[in-house]
Amino acid sequence: MNILLLGGTTEASALARTLAGQPWQATLSLAGRTREPVPQPIPCRVGGFGGVAGLAAYLRENRVDALVDATHPFAAQMIRHAAAAAAETGTPLLRIDRPAWTPREGAVWHRVATMQEAADALGLAPRRVLLTVGQKDLGPFTAAPQHAYVVRSIDPPAAPPPGALVLTARGPFLEADERALLQEHRIEVMVSKNAGGTATAAKLAAATDLGVPVVMVERPVLPAGLATVATAAEAFDWLARHAGTLRRE
Ligand code: NAP
Repeated sequence: MNILLLGGTTEASALARTLAGQPWQATLSLAGRTREPVPQPIPCRVGGFGGVAGLAAYLRENRVDALVDATHPFAAQMIRHAAAAAAETGTPLLRIDRPAWTPREGAVWHRVATMQEAADALGLAPRRVLLTVGQKDLGPFTAAPQHAYVVRSIDPPAAPPPGALVLTARGPFLEADERALLQEHRIEVMVSKNAGGTATAAKLAAATDLGVPVVMVERPVLPAGLATVATAAEAFDWLARHAGTLRRE
């Protein structure tokens, strides 16, 4: 069996570790966004495929038997492309989608649908804001320069809001450290994507403990009808079940 695993997430790395011990061929695909990706135990390819047509060609040329889409819940374009290319080529597709976070008792969440709505939700009065939304979606905050921003991302953003303090760090994060971060920078409101998972969830617990409200950007709508599991372990079970039945032209 030849597997293409679309990665860039904790779940993809976990599945890659499991696949490394199997008698299957598996390749992990990364977009190439982070400067120093976590080392992986299976072969990696890096960079876009060139849209749906490029991914479909890759699936055909490399005789891929199963496509596992373990990209981030906010990687909406890649998710759509994977669904379209799998349908076009008849490649079995499984999506790993970790459950979204839900507010714990006492949490104050302001749910929004887009990054622009998140920036708008901060209001006109200056506030001290922690942005934990990655490095590529910061434009709406640049257009709201009255706030004092602390931006935390894996790599420094190319265009942070003017005057922002940039902190580079990669999860997982501990709750005590997240509480210290909020206190040290006197954060009044946090902005987060509803990424789900455990690696970066501690910030939400810390915010609740300290009474810091969270502007939560909810997930983009994904294509309907995708076969989906929540964990790398379930994805492995799916692959094992399909190992004997997958297409081989
Ligand atoms: P995106 O906007 O959905 O995708 C943009 C383009 O990047 C895709 O059309 C594809 O290019 C390429 N691409 C994305 N993921 C790829 C992969 N795993 N392998 C090869 N090409 C890929 O994606 P994004 O939101 O920028 O995310 C990029 C990567 O970062 C993904 O691997 C994702 O899992 C990871 N990530 C994203 C977030 C987030 O908040 N968005 C957070 C953590 C990690 P072509 O059309 O040329 O094929």
